[in-house]
Amino acid sequence: MGTMTGQPSRRLSTGAPAHRPDRCVIGIRELGHLTSTERATLEAVTNRFPFRANDSYLQLIDWDDPDDPIRRLVIPDASELEDFGSLDASDEACNTPLPGLQHKYPDTALLLVTDQCAGFCRYCFRKRLFSPENRETVRDVSAGLDYLRSHHEITDVLLTGGDSLSLPTTRLEEILERISSIAHVQTIRLGSKMLAYNPSRVLSDARLQALMRRTVDSGKALYLMCHFDHPRELTPSAAEGLAVVQRLGVQCVNQSPITAGINDDVDTLASLMQACTHLGCPQYYLFQCRPTVGNAGFAVPITRAFSIVSGARARVSGLSRRARYCLSHATGKIEIVGLDDERVYARYHRAKDPADEGRILVYARDDRAVWLDELTPVR
Ligand code: SF4
Repeated sequence: MGTMTGQPSRRLSTGAPAHRPDRCVIGIRELGHLTSTERATLEAVTNRFPFRANDSYLQLIDWDDPDDPIRRLVIPDASELEDFGSLDASDEACNTPLPGLQHKYPDTALLLVTDQCAGFCRYCFRKRLFSPENRETVRDVSAGLDYLRSHHEITDVLLTGGDSLSLPTTRLEEILERISSIAHVQTIRLGSKMLAYNPSRVLSDARLQALMRRTVDSGKALYLMCHFDHPRELTPSAAEGLAVVQRLGVQCVNQSPITAGINDDVDTLASLMQACTHLGCPQYYLFQCRPTVGNAGFAVPITRAFSIVSGARARVSGLSRRARYCLSHATGKIEIVGLDDERVYARYHRAKDPADEGRILVYARDDRAVWLDELTPVR
């Protein structure tokens, strides 16, 4: 099923019903490759941050390598219990005018339609959603849709959570058809790591494919905001999933955080960016990993991440170089644009306050800082 070579495939769908749903794995005790001591340790982690994967994704792991990047991505780690970060590192609560809807920039709104994912990335910045007490996602999106209808400045809507493709197709139909009827919404984005975790969700669901086609035919631009973190996730099935949705008229881009031990080296990142471009899913953002609770083991200092991104950009074609390295900060998307021995230079790529739009920011260089608030501004 998966390839361990890192070489993505362009194999196209044959139409054969070869894509069976994967068995979901949610118990650490089901991981036969771990020792009983490891399982006992990691159960303490999953008591706090749940674990979820599936058989196919777990097969991508090289269990002989304790530092395997796919293992780091999805298998809990004791470092998640270290005291670090906050639950809402980008202060999304401030941009939430009603439950399940975020509106930070005038033209773009987010609907948090689900708290489910096919796998739980250990570094997830929205892991607060997976707590049973969390109420940020809503089942009934009527109020959110009313908000979209009454805010004519909103032209882009992102369905996210959670993974938007975790929703049953019937729910997705209901939501997409209602959004498609809003004239001023021109672009609909589906935030999803499904093609990495479980491509069969897309490959085996003709009704989902028909929905995508209908949405495109309704005149909306439909984007699949993919989330591949490592080239080994670009399995033949993932590549096939991309090809299938592209043939339906869906445009694909990739976005991923720079995470320690997963993609924080030039070779891996360049390979990911170039492979995504070849599959028609070019890298859109490279994000600074947010200082979210549980993420101590994934944090990469800003200056190091900048150097990795610069090194990777230098190795890839122009199409792959368009990705911006940004922090999703409470005040906006801030792109790190340069470094010298003493300074870090940044610029607002998107600003919450229009007065900040495009503003250049200069900070004293600190090679330990993993988030902007840890840097000292230079006046
Ligand atoms: S798929 Fe997205 S929302 Fe789900 S755990 Fe991963 S990063 Fe978080």
